[in-house]
Amino acid sequence: MIQLKSVREIDVMAEGGKILAATLQMLRREVKPGMSTLDLDAIAEEFIRSHPGATPAFKGLYGFPGSLCTSINQEIVHGIPSKKRVLRDGDVISIDAGIRFQGYFTDSATTVAVGTVDPETARLLAVTEESLAAGIAAAVPGNHLGDIGGAVQRVVEAAGFSVVRDLVGHGIGAEFHEEPQVPNYGKPKRGLKLVPGLTIAIEPMVNIGGPATRTLPDKWTIVTVDGSRSAHFEHTVAITETGNRVLTAA
Ligand code: MG
Ligand code: MG
Repeated sequence: MIQLKSVREIDVMAEGGKILAATLQMLRREVKPGMSTLDLDAIAEEFIRSHPGATPAFKGLYGFPGSLCTSINQEIVHGIPSKKRVLRDGDVISIDAGIRFQGYFTDSATTVAVGTVDPETARLLAVTEESLAAGIAAAVPGNHLGDIGGAVQRVVEAAGFSVVRDLVGHGIGAEFHEEPQVPNYGKPKRGLKLVPGLTIAIEPMVNIGGPATRTLPDKWTIVTVDGSRSAHFEHTVAITETGNRVLTAA
């Protein structure tokens, strides 16, 4: 069942989203060669908990051990922070975080170049971020879920990259994962009609190579089958009467 939110509930989510945006901005500045993904996780957890009422949403969610998902290079999402995963110059790391604040969740992700990356990786980051912006622009009342996914897909495929189909965005609110699913592909005017009060996480996952994925033996980390690099950007967005409100914008 889809849980539409009141303006008051959306205001609370936006307050939490502000803390989450500040967390990711801080982490983007912290990323550097030589640090481990567990270092990043510790910094994130401390920062989130320093805001009264805010807790890291991922910690313990479905049994996940970290406050962040940290996914390097060919890892798409759900990488587990580890002391053994040390960032190197030229890597790319997706940092995905969620927080719970006054009973409501927000979810956001960014992908960061570690030091200097090759031009194709830099293009991957730019295109994935642009595809998220296109998806958000299509997230307005009267449009359908297919308009969001279709907008993401058009940007990605025009650039010669591929959209991951095995993983999708989602509704979010009092639960971290709510209905509906929000695919990053689709056709205009298809799927659920968007109405004010709908709150969704839009999160394109984009691969340089093919879209196929597999899960590593740790049962969490999802990687590209062909070993190509992947990027992930995400915002929590509320559909409003007049358009939308990005609740995790910096
Ligand atoms: Mg996320
Ligand atoms: Mg999400």
